[in-house]
Amino acid sequence: ASLRTPKVETFDTRALQQLDSAHFLHPFTDHAALRDKGARVIVRGQGVYLWDSDGHQIIDGMSGLWCVNAGYGRTSISEAVYRQMETLPFYNSFFNTTNVPAVRLAAELVALAPPQFSHVFFTGSGSEANDTVVRMVRRYWDILGQPERQVIISRRNAYHGSTMAGASLGGMPGMHAQGGLPIPGIRHIGQPNYLEAGQGMSENAFGLVAAGWLEEEILAVGPDKVAAFIGEPVQGAGGVVIPPATYWPEVQRICDKYDILLIADEVICGFGRLGTWFGCELMGFKPDLISFAKGVTSGYVPLGGVLIGKRVAHALLEKGGDFNHGFTYSGHPVACAAALENLRILVDERLVEKVALDTGPHLKAAFNELATHPLVGHAESCGMVAGLNLVRVKGASMHECVPFERALQVGMLCRGHMFELGVIMRAVGDRMIVAPPLVMTRAEIDEMAARIWDCLDLTLEDVRSRGWL
Ligand code: PMP
Repeated sequence: ASLRTPKVETFDTRALQQLDSAHFLHPFTDHAALRDKGARVIVRGQGVYLWDSDGHQIIDGMSGLWCVNAGYGRTSISEAVYRQMETLPFYNSFFNTTNVPAVRLAAELVALAPPQFSHVFFTGSGSEANDTVVRMVRRYWDILGQPERQVIISRRNAYHGSTMAGASLGGMPGMHAQGGLPIPGIRHIGQPNYLEAGQGMSENAFGLVAAGWLEEEILAVGPDKVAAFIGEPVQGAGGVVIPPATYWPEVQRICDKYDILLIADEVICGFGRLGTWFGCELMGFKPDLISFAKGVTSGYVPLGGVLIGKRVAHALLEKGGDFNHGFTYSGHPVACAAALENLRILVDERLVEKVALDTGPHLKAAFNELATHPLVGHAESCGMVAGLNLVRVKGASMHECVPFERALQVGMLCRGHMFELGVIMRAVGDRMIVAPPLVMTRAEIDEMAARIWDCLDLTLEDVRSRGWL
């Protein structure tokens, strides 16, 4: 009964779905399949909960799309946005002008970032941030008189956005197959996925092996042609791939050895997701550039950007002249006002520390409990991201579990039940993942985990009745 709450406003769901499928082309969606089902219409959010147009309450295990870190319904953010819109809704920062929220936000971000950062370039999204990174690192080597350093090394199964450069940096074969990608000068190495590639090794030994793939690629390309390496501290859309503790420090050592720029894509990990302000702090490396978006405004208004370390900033600012790059919405005053208020919330409510010391460990305990379910091979978490693998046969270790055949799409079956039972979890193949708002309390984590357990039970029934076990 608690899944239904009184409707504040009445919606004609069917009519909205028909209009939706008639006119709205959704991102990453098979429209023929969506037309038959009809999209779920989300109408309201409060805290960690959403409501759909039929009045169902849903616990949002994905923070929207990894972004609503401060939770829904923060009136102080809407008020900050309203005030800024009344004062100055827009002005550009191209022609020797600036605006108050953008200046304050740049200073605030530099204060929150690790000590090597001094400047910020603003964009409208994470994809634009990574496009900026590609142009910026190539420009950097240009300024330093090494224009042949063009190649950027990334990883298979990485996600860095959907623009031409973002999708090229990303390592998703389905994306490369459409639109003539990747662009020239992007190379991909294996991801530090212990489950997939670490059999027979300790996790820490595997971390060194996986980092070693970077050195092999640098030597194959030629060190004097490599501009940078980019990676997400914890890969998000690829299925919450948490690297062994040895991985990033070794990547750092290799980049230093060949004088290669190191870039952290913190679009997901930034702003507290892992229990530190930036994921690189937890993973033990010092990037030259950080791309960010999502959690900087908790998604209330679109905003992204690149934090620029002193090494790159010095070249760009002191020796570079014009950097011929920028967006109409670089430093948008309304987006920056939203970000300032969002960061104030994260600081004043000590949400990052809370993730590190309280809710993150509680989420880990909840996922360890879910790992005892007969359908779950293993589970892991890091701060407020977690994942579990659905398997046909449980084994004594993660490498001894027997997976389902991919084509059965057991993950999608499970995700279907999540929708029915009012919890949002994402399926990446047969890996089920969550990244809840940082405000989620212990009690709400327990409630989410209970709903997930019920979904696992329903999925197990399906799998049995279809004879897949
Ligand atoms: N980088 C990472 C790590 C991401 O997860 C995403 C979005 N999921 C992006 C970049 C792209 O950000 P946007 O969708 O804002 O362009």
